Amino acid sequence: MPLEPQPNPKAVRTTCPYCGVGCGVLAKPLADGAVAIGGDPDHPANFGRLCSKGLALGETVSLDDRLLHPLIQGKPTGWDTALDLVAQRFCEAITAYGPESVAFYVSGQLLTEDYYVANKLMKGFIGSANIDTNSRLCMASSVAGHKRAFGSDTVPGVYEDLELADLVVLVGSNLAWCHPVLFQRLVAAKEKHGTKIVVIDPRATATSEGADLHLALVPGSDVALFNGLLAHLVKTGGLDENYISAFTAEFGAAAAEVAGFDIAEVTRLTGLTAREIEAFFELFAATAKSVTVFSQGVNQSSAGTDKVNAIINCHMATGRIGRPGTGPFSVTGQPNAMGGREVGGMANMLAVHMELGELKHRGLVQSFWRSPRIAAKPGLKAVDLFDAVGDGRIKALWIMGTNPIVSMPDADRVRAALSACPFVVVSDATLHTDTTVYAHVLLPSLAWGEKDGTVTNSERCISRQRAFLSAPGESRADWWQMAEIGKRMGWVDSFDYCNAAEIFAEHAELSGVGNGGSRDFDISAHRSIARTDYDDLQPFQWPQPANSQPAVTRFFAEGGFFTPDRRGRFIATPFRPPMAETSSRFPFVLNTGRVRDQWHTMTRTGKSARLMAHIAEPFVEIHPLDAHKADIADAELAIVESRHGRIIVRALVTERQRRGTVFVPMHWTDIQASAARVGALIASETDPVSGQPELKAMPVTMRQFDAAWYAFAVAREKPDRISADYWAVAPAKHGWRMEMAGHSAQSDWRSWFETQFPRAAAPRASIQTYNDSATGQFRIALFDGSELAAALFVASIPVAVSRSFAAEALGRKFEDPRVQFALLAGRPGQAEPDRGAIVCSCFEVGHNQIVRAIATNRCETVSAVGAALQAGTNCGSCRPEIAQIISVQRAQLVS
Ligand code: SF4
Repeated sequence: MPLEPQPNPKAVRTTCPYCGVGCGVLAKPLADGAVAIGGDPDHPANFGRLCSKGLALGETVSLDDRLLHPLIQGKPTGWDTALDLVAQRFCEAITAYGPESVAFYVSGQLLTEDYYVANKLMKGFIGSANIDTNSRLCMASSVAGHKRAFGSDTVPGVYEDLELADLVVLVGSNLAWCHPVLFQRLVAAKEKHGTKIVVIDPRATATSEGADLHLALVPGSDVALFNGLLAHLVKTGGLDENYISAFTAEFGAAAAEVAGFDIAEVTRLTGLTAREIEAFFELFAATAKSVTVFSQGVNQSSAGTDKVNAIINCHMATGRIGRPGTGPFSVTGQPNAMGGREVGGMANMLAVHMELGELKHRGLVQSFWRSPRIAAKPGLKAVDLFDAVGDGRIKALWIMGTNPIVSMPDADRVRAALSACPFVVVSDATLHTDTTVYAHVLLPSLAWGEKDGTVTNSERCISRQRAFLSAPGESRADWWQMAEIGKRMGWVDSFDYCNAAEIFAEHAELSGVGNGGSRDFDISAHRSIARTDYDDLQPFQWPQPANSQPAVTRFFAEGGFFTPDRRGRFIATPFRPPMAETSSRFPFVLNTGRVRDQWHTMTRTGKSARLMAHIAEPFVEIHPLDAHKADIADAELAIVESRHGRIIVRALVTERQRRGTVFVPMHWTDIQASAARVGALIASETDPVSGQPELKAMPVTMRQFDAAWYAFAVAREKPDRISADYWAVAPAKHGWRMEMAGHSAQSDWRSWFETQFPRAAAPRASIQTYNDSATGQFRIALFDGSELAAALFVASIPVAVSRSFAAEALGRKFEDPRVQFALLAGRPGQAEPDRGAIVCSCFEVGHNQIVRAIATNRCETVSAVGAALQAGTNCGSCRPEIAQIISVQRAQLVS
């Protein structure tokens, strides 16, 4: 279905909907329905840069698989009928079982205005705090750590600090892939003035490639390392005694806790060598301008909050906080995780950084909202919430903009819970997700490009997300949906919003209520913002209190914490290893995370053939010695299994993986692969303070998938159903690409091919085949006239064909029957070298091209490869991978 472009289109300033860097985007709808995308040169997060995901945003706005109308039990209906039913079922549950019997599960994808209305409806009117968010899976430990140390959920620094620092320590962060534009700012600073970079991560990643020091510690041992660092600072006189005594409290308890963490103990717990540990400690101690960036590797842990506080302890002990080029720095995974925190959109928060547990705060919020009641105790955090759905305590659940059947731990249990829940509402822009299947009512939401509101990035910068496309079908904003339910539940005046600007103004006004500097979050300067000013709102950093100039850029250089005595708190952080231990049955530690070109469950990035060309199939990274032990060879399929579930993924055998650990990406769903939802493997063990699940330390075992055949196929049409024990499907430029495998071979591959791709055959179809029953090889290519319509490559071992060549052949014309037959080779002829897997998405430069440029053009630097092939010269997201390829080639030359 074509997009509906705006009349007289011009570039609209908006914000990227992916990671927490929050880059400014210029989006221009074109006459043909496409959208031209560029970086906003005036946005303070990115100054015009975008990463590969941001640049491909125009390829993700099609209406394929959009939910366009409200559905009840799968049948189209009108908004009034759907909303009446939702309000009625929520009211019935509350009347019969009380307010704790209903819940909202929302998302860091929501805009602040959506989040605000959801939180107001649940906490202020329904009277329960059962609203939690997928941000619980992302950064709840940072929130908890900040609150313990600072008395508030404050990120003290700004992005510029990474450029001003002399040392940047990246803990549990693959910044190069997960926050690429911020990483590029750091790399540019390193090139300019030699910033030292230390990466603390069990895996070797694109981020660690260019680091001065990579500490590949035992998974989950970060607290031991930072306790050791604090002990080292104490022992070597590296403390800022003035800062500690003037602005902080409880240093003694933290120092006593770390007293036993000498180098030998840290070596024992982290698995690092004494030399590595000393090098890090000495570098940190000697570098006054140091920033510690942390992300999911820290947060997604059963000791996540302690990890955050162990890091903050070291910064407060050295007074390295709130000054240019210093500070602990949490970077969020989601585009509006920070906005959700600001409105209090989590089960244990109130609104505008007020406390649910404080009577005074509850009174302020309730009287501002003029609400009949207010939640007086924390609600259910994500894992507990789905437990309550499963055991029947929750009778009505509303899920907005998220896909918990993929992203939650113990995901199969979450699926069972949803299927048993008496009433499930899902608001989403996408029709088919793993979660929408279980909705009694489906409500069509706006997607990026149609949404209008604000988001807050990791450095407290609030930016507008502006609509540049019309709302398709009957889709409506999430805030509108919730306001309509609020009205139908009887609170007409309290939810009578006409637009997002009114909600933002109310949120801004509330942030100033009873504040006077007692809380960090204050944007009351915008409390009377008019619609036109909201439309023109420029990115700004909070706080911006009313009646005063915005003066604060950073927090806590001179104390001023938000604790009762305004002193920062040191927290004693005893070391605890991950909850689940490996055993002879489950000997490997499973780590999960993102890949460069995908976002969450791929409902958007999965639409872009260019992005899928980078990595098109779910995989498990495994060290060669572990692979040998498990009898799994590179490119074979592996079954990864825990006590909760199993997945089947491609084995990627690499020395980048630490021995005893494996890595599986988080993105693949049941829509894109037969069994690759990694959440199904993970236990729902959580951090006791933050409630954040441990997503990076699950004991698993692995074994070979018993494959009698492997296949790779390309086709213009996606099969309705793939008849294979293993499959993974991804879009290609002119169709689809599929990996498949099965336990028993077909007796007639041609018939199988025709059943799989019935629509590929056309009246003018011709076929080329190759069959070698001795080796189990079968190849077939079907042409519509001279155009390749489908091809299948079958082998008894992993299929060795050039995926990029075969995928790009789709839709091309091949007139000569000899050339058609040659396609069955699955690789280009000599005149057209094989590009290999795509590394640079912008210029579609493949791995093999880079290897050839290194060998023949003697390209020894990333810039030299860029000069030869353009690779890495646009968004720069692939530069770390190019560096990796250069270093591998160099190592091979030496050996
Ligand atoms: Fe979007 Fe990339 Fe910027 Fe993140 S770094 S906000 S994904 S363009």
